Amino acid sequence: MVATPGEIVSAVVGHTVDTNDASRVFGRMRNFDVNDVLVVEFPTAQTAGRGTGRPWGHLGTEDRRRVRNVLRAVIDDRRPGISEWGACGLCGRRESLRWHEGPSFLRWPDGSPAPVCAECQRVVDRRPEAGTIDQLRVIGVEIATGFAQMYYRAPDEFRLYAETKDCDGNGHALAWDYGDGIREFREVIWADRPSLAPEDRRDEFAQRLRERIDETKREAQQQAETEHASAW
Ligand SMILES: [Zn+2]
Repeated sequence: MVATPGEIVSAVVGHTVDTNDASRVFGRMRNFDVNDVLVVEFPTAQTAGRGTGRPWGHLGTEDRRRVRNVLRAVIDDRRPGISEWGACGLCGRRESLRWHEGPSFLRWPDGSPAPVCAECQRVVDRRPEAGTIDQLRVIGVEIATGFAQMYYRAPDEFRLYAETKDCDGNGHALAWDYGDGIREFREVIWADRPSLAPEDRRDEFAQRLRERIDETKREAQQQAETEHASAW
């Protein structure tokens, strides 16, 4: 039976390790020299040059320490971190798994460049044609609400995080949470289009929309009845 990377790394470090993390540990410990010859890899019994009766018993303290260090680096890499350039200039998120250089025109109030978080960058990458702050706002609307439409223009009052009044660039724990304006804007979009709302709030917006439609129908009916009566 062949053990999976997860089982192997877990056995070596002494606690359960996520399968993907374990595979990355293997990948990082596989080093080739200039001639493409494998020189260092995960310390197996073969590379250690000795076998013992116990599984992974051939590993010395130093081997295990090395594996633990690589595992720590792998985990650190997938932990959200802050950027030296501040929070995300678009959504205001303070922490991200990765940081990207923002478009040249996305700047903090002091003129220094604002970075873009991994989540926003995914959408920015799909819209490379955005060359002005207006076009970037349209992308901002899409990331913030899910709403995307050809020839759409963001409302005049819509502002990306870096553009907000007195923006200090420190950001917030949540994306698109930098003011009442942006919070209300998202609700307005979702109120008309519940399918765009985050999954855990979709039912709530769908219910509100149904109630609004019923209310409008009732009003129209009353109106019609009043008009009908006054016609007599
Ligand atoms: Zn962002």
